[in-house]
Amino acid sequence: MMSMHLHQSAVTVLGLGPMGRALAGAFLEAGLRTTVWNRTPGRDADLLARGAAGARSAEEAVAASALTVICVVNDDAVDAVLRRDAVAAVLKGRTVVNLSADTPERARDLADWAAGHGVRYLDGAIMTPNTPIGTPAAVFLHAGPADLYAEHRTVLEALGGTHTHLGEDIGRAAAYDIALLDIFWTAMAGYAHALAVARAEGVTARELAPFAKGIVDILPPIIEQSVEETERGDFPGDGNPITSAVSSMAHIVHTSEAHGIDAGVMRAAEGMARRAIGRGHGADGFLRIAELLGRR
Ligand code: NDP
Repeated sequence: MMSMHLHQSAVTVLGLGPMGRALAGAFLEAGLRTTVWNRTPGRDADLLARGAAGARSAEEAVAASALTVICVVNDDAVDAVLRRDAVAAVLKGRTVVNLSADTPERARDLADWAAGHGVRYLDGAIMTPNTPIGTPAAVFLHAGPADLYAEHRTVLEALGGTHTHLGEDIGRAAAYDIALLDIFWTAMAGYAHALAVARAEGVTARELAPFAKGIVDILPPIIEQSVEETERGDFPGDGNPITSAVSSMAHIVHTSEAHGIDAGVMRAAEGMARRAIGRGHGADGFLRIAELLGRR
């Protein structure tokens, strides 16, 4: 039923990196008339074979649909593609959904530009890799005018997964993206470092893996518990006070530096914990640091 309805709809996808190609592929799969364009030619071969229409320029591509989804490396690239007179003239009265990752500030800047050119603008973030796009596992966040989101929601949902409209503040999807990728990249930095230290101690990635996954599984209940703690501003350290955490961190710094492995990330974390102790919070739980970091 959905694809019969969507067959009437057209969508343009600008940017055919791994993510843009996945988005365009999911739109095609859902039966939408899909027009694609990429700065570097030749990235559309597979999509054209699957029925997409190719465009010779960004302006030709956006002219083909009322809705354009752009997914390029960042908002500098979005500027390079959209903020040109020829493209802006065609976009007037049409909608752009920007699924490129960047900062809340850049989303607001693009929204200002769009408003000044009569372009209807939504900003979004994709919280999963490209492989789950088109499946129930994909996760999309959206921000911007609620009525505009409601208008394009059915087409966006052709991308599969869950779609959450976070509110009218155009920077909100990017704000969630920043916070969530903050978790992801510091965890990845920790894991990369852990692999190096483990290898120096003769432990392979394969040997570590089951226990590494176990460590990650500790986090969801901590995140759950942190909601109430941050709301109350109270971070009980009963099971694991900051004084105990810094001791554990110091062992990691010591062991990695003894192997000549840089411990900068862990030193930074240990430094934050020691400052919390210095301010009299040694008996609190580790997430007291969130409150201290936010203090002016
Ligand atoms: P990249 O982040 O590498 O972006 C590649 C795309 O950006 C290509 O289409 C490239 O065009 C285009 N591009 C780069 N610079 C410019 C420019 N100056 N002008 C025009 N186009 C430009 O690959 P992805 O497709 O993976 O990512 C796209 C976005 O999706 C990023 O913001 C990324 O953070 C986000 N994302 C990606 C995920 C993933 O797993 N891949 C997961 C979640 C979000 P060209 O081919 O001409 O170089």
